[in-house]
Amino acid sequence: MEADPEYFIQGVRAGDRKILAKTITLIESSLATHQQLVTTVLDELLPDTGNTIRLGITGVPGAGKSTFIENMGLQLIDQGYRLAVLAVDPSSARSGGSILGDKTRMEKLSARPEAFIRPSPSGGSLGGVSRKTREAMLICEAAGFDVIIVETVGVGQSEASVASMVDFFLVLILAGAGDELQGIKRGILELADAIAVNKADGENIENAKKTRKQYEDALHLLTPSSSTWVPSVLTCSALTMSGIEEIWHTVLNHRQQMIKSGDLAAKRKRQALDWMQYLLEEGLKEWFYSTPQVRHRLPELKRAVEVGETTPTAAVKTLLDIFTRPKERNAYGSQC
Ligand code: GDP
Repeated sequence: MEADPEYFIQGVRAGDRKILAKTITLIESSLATHQQLVTTVLDELLPDTGNTIRLGITGVPGAGKSTFIENMGLQLIDQGYRLAVLAVDPSSARSGGSILGDKTRMEKLSARPEAFIRPSPSGGSLGGVSRKTREAMLICEAAGFDVIIVETVGVGQSEASVASMVDFFLVLILAGAGDELQGIKRGILELADAIAVNKADGENIENAKKTRKQYEDALHLLTPSSSTWVPSVLTCSALTMSGIEEIWHTVLNHRQQMIKSGDLAAKRKRQALDWMQYLLEEGLKEWFYSTPQVRHRLPELKRAVEVGETTPTAAVKTLLDIFTRPKERNAYGSQC
């Protein structure tokens, strides 16, 4: 692998797909030298990022995500867009296996030079998978893609993670009988900028309309997360393409309104700061547990709590006090 950051920077800027893929492989690598290299590359490319539509899509397996992304993607390409499709798959984080990646997906779209499809990075925590996808998104933006679609499955915490890296979060659902509202977590509805009831075709059309109404009612009960945007519920068929155009217009309409009100810039700033906070906390935890003092004292303190020799509060204080120098404590007049 090349070690010169310029090779990656120039290659990505030129939209070279091979170098783009190699740069994302670097992002996914856990080698310290690769991480260092990619930090330099990302810093250099940062001014070339951000000028895109970032769209998140979630839905349970079988909801029709890949059909939707493929068919909408092909239509967007016809309209002159270039798009990258990335994924956050919590199952790949846990087991190395993946819900999103195992089958052959989006074959027609992946054959197009205007599209770039990258499966979910595997291994590591959900936080690790999210970091890699966020950074891959920036690299794709610098490579000149106009639309970035980040896909995830409706299980675990991955929806919140994807919603926190995109401008617009679309939840694909299926029409079903009766109690489907309970099946979908309330938290996901709160993240949605739009909900699309998919497979509204053939005999399912009436059913889909009913489901749409139920979700409209459910959304009325929630406080919208933005003052400029009221989430909408739509029906579509990823297979026959009916309603897809309307969904894309909703995305564009949302974008226009958010730009006009200043909410888009504010949202992206907030996302960047939240992400920094997350990384800082993760980094602190990692550093804390890896220090020799903590590694030495922790087992003994855990045992003391277990047998009732000390309280959890006292044990934690002992551990944190390892890093509190007396001078700092005095400066604030008390021990923290
Ligand atoms: P994913 O697991 O969410 O990516 O779902 P897929 O896109 O693989 O779709 C699951 C199944 O539903 C496939 O057999 C698709 O052909 C089918 N499907 C997807 N969208 C539609 C649709 O709009 N209408 C109908 N009737 N079937 C669909």
